Amino acid sequence: MKTPSFLKGLVWLLVPVWVLSCSPKAEIYKVAKPLMGTVVEISVVCDDARHASGAIQAAFNEMARLEAMMSVFRDDSELSRLNREGSSRPVRVSPELFEVIEMSLALSRTTRGAFDITVGPLMQLWPFYAREKRLPSSHEIQEVLRRVGYAHVILSPEERTASFAVPGMALDLGGIAKGYAIDRAVAVLKEHGIAAALVNAGGDVFAYGEKPGNQPWRVGLRHPRNPQELLAALPLANKAVVTSGDYERYFLVDGKRYSHIIDPRSGVTAQKTASVTVVASSAAYADGLATGILVLGAQEGLALVESLPGVQAAVVTEGEQDELALRLSKGFREAYPLDERHLAAQRVRLVN
Ligand code: AMP
Ligand code: MG
Repeated sequence: MKTPSFLKGLVWLLVPVWVLSCSPKAEIYKVAKPLMGTVVEISVVCDDARHASGAIQAAFNEMARLEAMMSVFRDDSELSRLNREGSSRPVRVSPELFEVIEMSLALSRTTRGAFDITVGPLMQLWPFYAREKRLPSSHEIQEVLRRVGYAHVILSPEERTASFAVPGMALDLGGIAKGYAIDRAVAVLKEHGIAAALVNAGGDVFAYGEKPGNQPWRVGLRHPRNPQELLAALPLANKAVVTSGDYERYFLVDGKRYSHIIDPRSGVTAQKTASVTVVASSAAYADGLATGILVLGAQEGLALVESLPGVQAAVVTEGEQDELALRLSKGFREAYPLDERHLAAQRVRLVN
């Protein structure tokens, strides 16, 4: 959740976009801001510029507060303190951090350990965080795996504390904190009386209400090998869409791509899947699930999604000869019919 330096100079934009609609005053106000390692855009439908700007500012403040709390890149974050002290004693944490950890442990059970926030020490081992740009040996991985495992996280709801059963453990909330922050931003916008909005954190989105003119919000399903291209534009109401992809952050060693998502069971970077998009009614849930399914792979991941009510997913894998294979859960196929000719033009084959 580091803010890349090239984004730091980005200026605030408050752009009223005039939209023809039955209500002559209805406008979309949109503000973009670098946060959580990406650009977050908040669009609200409102008839008053000051009201819109106040609500958007409050939502951004909430996201910034959560980033400062949950980032592993900041030594002074609450999460970093928990990582330093959680092996020696129960550490009291704020309700939000407690909630995210609790949700994460539930997601670990749902994904049979594929999503696991105790990957912290493994992340240090692979070159995205480690200063040395080399691959770890299997001996190093085995050694670190002893300090990984969600079953070793101890939560006490009464005291609101967290601690680790094994010394040297560390949590990394990179797979869920952005989604949680999106959900909180939406809650703040609603508290400010905003009836329709879209919060977009680098393509991870929650949308509710409608655009002026009774138009649905539309969210792009990105091409994982050509992220400027869209495979589809999904209409969205009261839903989150979150994508995990091996293209987002990765490193190359001898021309081979290593993603920033690690299989916590083997300690090795996830290799099977190019991208996973999850649609659900909570962005935090969709975020964690997308990361977990990227580890599980298309077959096991989609089987899991079919068993979860109200969740849909699209999974892209490398196919034959430069082609990509797109697989959809049953619910996704029903909710979002895709244009196969458009997919074929992008060398994506629908497999189901
Ligand atoms: P996302 O982009 O949401 O898929 O999150 C990727 C981030 O989640 C990584 O940069 C790590 O911080 C963290 N992470 C990596 N592997 C896992 C995993 N198996 N379970 C949970 N979090 C992970
Ligand atoms: Mg995620």
